[in-house]
Amino acid sequence: MTSPYELKNHQSAANVVWHHTHCTAVDRARIKQQRPVCIWLTGLSASGKSTLANALEAQLLDLGRHTYLLDGDNVRHGLNKDLGMSDADRAENIRRVGEVARLMNDAGLIAITAFISPFREDRDKVRALFAPGDFFEVFVDTPLAVCEQRDPKGMYRKARAGQISGFTGIDSPYDAPLNAELRIDTQDKSVAQCVEEMLAFLTPRIQG
Ligand code: ADP
Repeated sequence: MTSPYELKNHQSAANVVWHHTHCTAVDRARIKQQRPVCIWLTGLSASGKSTLANALEAQLLDLGRHTYLLDGDNVRHGLNKDLGMSDADRAENIRRVGEVARLMNDAGLIAITAFISPFREDRDKVRALFAPGDFFEVFVDTPLAVCEQRDPKGMYRKARAGQISGFTGIDSPYDAPLNAELRIDTQDKSVAQCVEEMLAFLTPRIQG
């Protein structure tokens, strides 16, 4: 699917020449003594993405890592406040976040993102922005029934009552990842246990 945003981009990008900067991503990463990567959390609403992303970032900062967390709800208040919930706008939401995460990497930071990012095609496009081995898709694999029971923001209740339409898992699809680097099962585990699993995976991959 080509979004209206992509069409506009094509037309203007054709006349813009890439300007090479003097300092490189390698220089910026070197002084932070880390390998910048993108940790992309995907999963249903209330699966635990924000909770885990926040706890993971806190642990990484404690370990002296340089990070930046992009969270779905927060980004929609600013950078993406012009976007709604249509399929095209959801795709654009994810495209912009992917580009910002890539800029964060370029700045030497470990980017952590917490977005439902329901469409596989959109996630794959973001993956393609990164060098192989720099993008880790983390599937927060919490069953719909558990998410619905948690319902911390009352969104599922509203979606079931017909007060919200196009809600992922209810009347809008979620494409589960096929090749996620990591799958986290939050159902019978504490937040601390889940973060421990994520850190065990990440630690050898972010060494400078
Ligand atoms: P999302 O960002 O995916 O919409 P949230 O992190 O906002 O989800 O909400 C997840 C809810 O599930 C929180 O209330 C959190 O306390 C609860 N929860 C219970 N167990 C876990 C776990 N192991 N990992 C993450 N969240 C959990």
